[in-house]
Amino acid sequence: MNPFRRLLPCLIAVQLGAQAPPADPRPVAERLRAEAFRTHGAYEDLAWLCDRIGPRLSGSPQLDQAIAWAQSRLKAAGLVNVRAEPVMVPHWVRGHESAELLLPTPTRLNILGLGGSVGTPEGGLTADVAVVGSFDELDQLGEAVKGKIVLFDVPFKGYGHTVVYRHDGAARAAKYGAVGALVRSVGPVSLDTPHTGAMDYDPAFPKIPTAAVTLEASTQMRRMQQRGERIQMRLVMGAKTLPDALSANVVAEIPGTEKPDEVVILSGHLDSWDVGQGAQDDGAGTVIAMEAARLIQRLGLKPRRTIRVVLWTNEENGLRGGKAYRDAHRAELKDIVAAVETDSGSERIKAFSLELRKATPEAKAAALATLKSFERALAPFGPVDLRLGGSGADVSPMVAEGVPGIGVSHAATRYFDIHHTHADTFDKVEKDDLAHNAAVLATFALALAQSEARFR
Ligand SMILES: [Zn+2]
Repeated sequence: MNPFRRLLPCLIAVQLGAQAPPADPRPVAERLRAEAFRTHGAYEDLAWLCDRIGPRLSGSPQLDQAIAWAQSRLKAAGLVNVRAEPVMVPHWVRGHESAELLLPTPTRLNILGLGGSVGTPEGGLTADVAVVGSFDELDQLGEAVKGKIVLFDVPFKGYGHTVVYRHDGAARAAKYGAVGALVRSVGPVSLDTPHTGAMDYDPAFPKIPTAAVTLEASTQMRRMQQRGERIQMRLVMGAKTLPDALSANVVAEIPGTEKPDEVVILSGHLDSWDVGQGAQDDGAGTVIAMEAARLIQRLGLKPRRTIRVVLWTNEENGLRGGKAYRDAHRAELKDIVAAVETDSGSERIKAFSLELRKATPEAKAAALATLKSFERALAPFGPVDLRLGGSGADVSPMVAEGVPGIGVSHAATRYFDIHHTHADTFDKVEKDDLAHNAAVLATFALALAQSEARFR
């Protein structure tokens, strides 16, 4: 008897029982980084998106152009199943707007109407201004603000903390009979830059026009009120909401070689506000998602699971893209390994945070341990924190259904100074940051796609 015949079953058992150690992911990370810095494709794409297409509010022809452009870029990179999945989106237009202080010191003011606001009556609105520092102060004044414009002069204490005044200010003021609402721009510093953003009315109260004023103007009006001076303003806003418009999420794939039904989503939102160029918010997230897939494709890497790029429509004023995706892909949600979203600017990636809505504390602890197993792959990029936390607005409808969402935290030292303003332009983006981020994202997506990791 051939002695090897007796050994053979043993060898097979050893091979089946003990998995081969996973290949060291770091050399691939280094190759992805080298390619990102050689080509700077994300930077070139962002320059085109900003300079040649421009701001991309839902319903605008620029957003349609961006949707067509992104598909052509993804096709050219060799991705497959490139398509525009239709979504109906709100169509708000700003129109002409202006504001001036009439009393006590005639001054022209820089404003930006808030997205979703109604316009002022024909010929504009002239009224006295009442300045408050909180909803509590408004409640104390109550009916005393009737017929006035309420200004919420609320200092910035973090975006999540302060943004409620932008979102709910008009409804709260209208409850007491105010005829307009202004909000101090939600940002830490200002060069006379008003910040727009989304707001909502309460159907129980009248819709009144609402706009952001600059930090400079807001604090000036507070000082005037403290001196007991009468503040009178004239506000002109041509804003209106048109019927919903047809838009789309852009979707493209690198199909998985072994488990094509298991999907890692890489995403950012293609729409922006109608001012500036939407460079930080969220052109940067869009182009690094595209570039990450392109780097993997160009190096001929073959992920075991599918990597799917999704460029969302209508993050800024409706989240219709994220909701439509959830509805159209409901049957596949169970197979989404992770939905990664980057939407906090162009500065360097510092962390990935995993959000699990339907997991027990034990399951979350196990998922965190799984997430931390990707530390090795990301090691060439310096410290990247892997933690539990929030994910992203566009993926949130899926995440609510139990899909693991992964948010991308960027350094964001200047993000809230700039986003939603005329200053959100391409010149403030660092070329090397985008290359770095695209390589980090590509490495992370590839590692997820090569692994057996499940976070639920
Ligand atoms: Zn955004």
